[in-house]
Amino acid sequence: MTAALEPVRFDVEAIRHQFPALHQRVNGKPLVYLDNAASAQVPVAVLDAMDHYYRNDRSNVHRGAHTLSRRATDAFEEVRARVARFIGAADPSEIVYVRGTTEAINLVANTFGRSRLGPGDEVLVSTMEHHSNIVPWQIVCNQVGARVREVPIDDRGQLDLDAYSAMLGPRVKMVALAHVSNALGTVNPAAEIVARAHAHGVPILLDGAQAVAHLDVDVAALGCDFYAFSGHKLYGPNGVGALYGRREHLDAMPPWHGGGEMIRDVSFDGTTFADPPFKFEAGTPDVSGVIGLGAAIDWFTSLDREAARAHERSLLTAATARIAEIDGVRLIGTAARKEAVLSFALGAHHPGDVGTLLDLDGVAVRTGHHCTQPLMRRFGVPGTVRASFALYNTHAEVDAFVGALRRAAHILE
Ligand code: PMP
Repeated sequence: MTAALEPVRFDVEAIRHQFPALHQRVNGKPLVYLDNAASAQVPVAVLDAMDHYYRNDRSNVHRGAHTLSRRATDAFEEVRARVARFIGAADPSEIVYVRGTTEAINLVANTFGRSRLGPGDEVLVSTMEHHSNIVPWQIVCNQVGARVREVPIDDRGQLDLDAYSAMLGPRVKMVALAHVSNALGTVNPAAEIVARAHAHGVPILLDGAQAVAHLDVDVAALGCDFYAFSGHKLYGPNGVGALYGRREHLDAMPPWHGGGEMIRDVSFDGTTFADPPFKFEAGTPDVSGVIGLGAAIDWFTSLDREAARAHERSLLTAATARIAEIDGVRLIGTAARKEAVLSFALGAHHPGDVGTLLDLDGVAVRTGHHCTQPLMRRFGVPGTVRASFALYNTHAEVDAFVGALRRAAHILE
């Protein structure tokens, strides 16, 4: 009976069993999948949920009087409530379905941003942002005569909080920052950066694409105005994600895409729009994607996430220490708080060459600029090799990765 009181160990083998794609050989070697910051693999529970929709409930949502459409609509809307709970939103109407983080940020830039920005105004983003949290703001700023300003980072890849505070002047109308950096793994002090923006009356969007699978996210505790994430980095399908927006913002924001679903009444004298979130969801949505996202959230939240996080951190700590011993390895991103991402350069070798050699040993990593070119310039590298961990990775895979990297370093010598 006392066994129930003992701490539960994280059973990584049982978890791996649920991921069909992990069990294959690549170039004759067991696959070591360390490209989770690009897309994580998908468990059977998610595959089954999407399969079930296509086999049984396939129909469009919201419009049909028939049973299949009702089942699909119920599932679709039930996921909205689950997403809201998952990130601590007060109400499902604060969750807008989108294709992913990129679309979420474009939506906010083109509605909230465009309606608030004018000549001389500023949007603050940081050096470590993904292009999808830079370019949408640049496009809108260029159109309205505003400008995007870069909050600097230090040599470890941490946000310069003093510079950030100093930049929060009267011209700043918006802040948009990553919660966790996809290229460095840096965890930004999100609640603190939100509080500082709000102290100046400035709304803030957090890009949570790299955060949701590694941290507990609570938008109410963070206090942010918007939060964006994608399903494919959360063990879910591609092409679906969510935007959280505070209800008062969503109410005030003009629509973006026009079409079916987002209207109340259409006539040639003028059109009125549906309430949020539907106002922002024109057209037939990715119903199976949303159902898969819901299944991914269910699967993920059913785990012992404290144990999962501890496991992921032990992988990152072990891998970081061991590759640092390899001649020529330069770690890019050594922040005090990091999650799941290990970026590095190997001498002056092109990251793509290193990645190709690792692939020959079955090790999948990402190489290149990771959609963060300003960040790569800040570190004076064309790109990095990035190994990124998920909760299903193992210490044996860290061993395989380190061994493969040693061989690559030897070959490239
Ligand atoms: N921001 C960050 C921090 C990311 O890691 C990514 C995905 N790599 C994105 C934005 C863009 O997400 P998506 O491609 O799913 O729209």
